[in-house]
Amino acid sequence: MPAEPAPEAPPEPPPLVPGVARALSPLARRIVAPNPGLMTGPGTNTYLVGIDEIAVIDPGPDDESHLDAIVGCGGDRIRWILLTHTHADHAPGAAGLRERTGAEVLGFAPRDGVRLDGRIPGGHRIEATEFRLRVIHTPGHASNHLCFLLEEERMLFSGDHIMQGSTVVIRPPDGDMTAYLGSLEAVRKLRLRSIAPGHGHLIEQPTEVIDHYLRHRHEREKQILDALAAAGTAKIDQLVAEVYVDVPAELHPVARYTVHAHLLKLAAEGRVTGRTLTGKWSIA
Ligand SMILES: [Zn+2]
Repeated sequence: MPAEPAPEAPPEPPPLVPGVARALSPLARRIVAPNPGLMTGPGTNTYLVGIDEIAVIDPGPDDESHLDAIVGCGGDRIRWILLTHTHADHAPGAAGLRERTGAEVLGFAPRDGVRLDGRIPGGHRIEATEFRLRVIHTPGHASNHLCFLLEEERMLFSGDHIMQGSTVVIRPPDGDMTAYLGSLEAVRKLRLRSIAPGHGHLIEQPTEVIDHYLRHRHEREKQILDALAAAGTAKIDQLVAEVYVDVPAELHPVARYTVHAHLLKLAAEGRVTGRTLTGKWSIA
């Protein structure tokens, strides 16, 4: 019997090339920073929203060539520099971009050596002549993490809350698994058309991807609980080795943080006991 024809695979999007601005929609453009790596994938995505007045979302690392590319694309029309969070691959370029453009730097809370000109809470709106960006507070990856919803296009700029091609590291104490899952549920309700992540390609099936993230976290939690139940008492390294068999070993040191975050959530629910990254954990 002839085999079923394979379903048509969607065409591969063109590769993410640093320094080249690419239009994603009538209002949004993307420039990839030249900082590829284990944790940054092809590099950090910087987005420019708007034409006459521009909001830059995540200027990325403090890199001359990258800042040149952003200014070359937006020039003196850049009015706002918005930060999804203050981690080193997203925010340090803000100071140099402010210097070159006079734009104001806005974020949820200053930290990690990043200076803000203003703090923006969840629910705040950036109002430009052509667009509105709604601020959504999404703690989990970082407690000061924001997403930005471009209301005209229902496009969510998700920073490290949702990435394309990989899951997100949750590192306690600033990273918080309970908060993270709540923030995923919150953005799931936004009737999104697309997600423009901090790393990777534009996501055009937002609900499917968010559901996949939620399922994946619940599966991991169950795997961790099962492994701990089988061992009785275990350290996090041991649980990572057992649970993260599907993940390259070079990522295991980072996976320890996420397992710690899962265990702290389970401890808050009274299902396990333990506290630290290096200590022992048991079923409650
Ligand atoms: Zn990042």
